[in-house]
Amino acid sequence: MLARPEMLTSGDESLLSILACPLCKGVLARSHDRLRCSACARDFTRERGYWSLLSDDARAALEGRGDTAWTRWREALEGLEAWRARVDRAGSASASAAKRDGSDDDRTRALIERAVGERAGLLVDVGAKDGRMRSLAPTKCDYVGIDPMPRGDGAVLRAISEAIPLRDRCAQAVLCHAAFDYFVDPSAALLEMHRVLAPGGALAMVVSVVSAPVAHARGASTRVERVLGALRAAKSVGTKGATQLIGEAIVGERAHVRYYTRAQLMALVGVRFDIVDVREVAQPASTILYIHGAKRTQRKLKVL
Ligand SMILES: [Zn+2]
Repeated sequence: MLARPEMLTSGDESLLSILACPLCKGVLARSHDRLRCSACARDFTRERGYWSLLSDDARAALEGRGDTAWTRWREALEGLEAWRARVDRAGSASASAAKRDGSDDDRTRALIERAVGERAGLLVDVGAKDGRMRSLAPTKCDYVGIDPMPRGDGAVLRAISEAIPLRDRCAQAVLCHAAFDYFVDPSAALLEMHRVLAPGGALAMVVSVVSAPVAHARGASTRVERVLGALRAAKSVGTKGATQLIGEAIVGERAHVRYYTRAQLMALVGVRFDIVDVREVAQPASTILYIHGAKRTQRKLKVL
């Protein structure tokens, strides 16, 4: 059996030593069943076995309040939960094949290895879901997963990527696997990933990008607009892609909060990270990018 990387569990003193208030980044101190921020005096408790360190926006949205952007986020997460429930119920070979794509695992493992390099230290998985990516991390790394809807034993913190509840410069690498298109504020999330990385730290990001017509079709708010958009985008993606696009527009809901073109994504990531390499895998209507980025230092930060 392969050794797995050390995971920081939710009761761990070593986890507590790297936590920070998601709102003001103050130091958190534990008192009985809660964490209290020494700077803003906010209390945080455990929910469903996880420390819950959500921002106010995220909490309001999950409680059915909040503005439009965060409502859209909640709907996307609910769609994801419904999909997971269907996969769990089906329990069949085809469902587990859909859940686990071995070739994606292999490419993601190689990406993490390139990003971590020779260094040991902490790997932060942003948008960790059930923490499954822990099994792909090098054994010399500690692992902590962050997700607004954590499941399993790998994602130990309930939090959002726009307000990561970890101290500055605590991580050697940040992984963001199939999560970036769920973020409400991608610039804020990238700023947070940059903040928690130590100097010399690296980003390993896996994200699907689409053409502008496909982004428009998939992101439209009504089904009619999605179907019309899919018909318009069909000629740019080939027969297989067109069949998929039109099918999902008819039967499916909007899956993600946002859909990115390659240019949009690279412009966002490039503000805070130097792109070391990008490997890509073509899909019928999208392209999966495996991006290795290096933390850009303050001195070299691009001025927009
Ligand atoms: Zn605070």
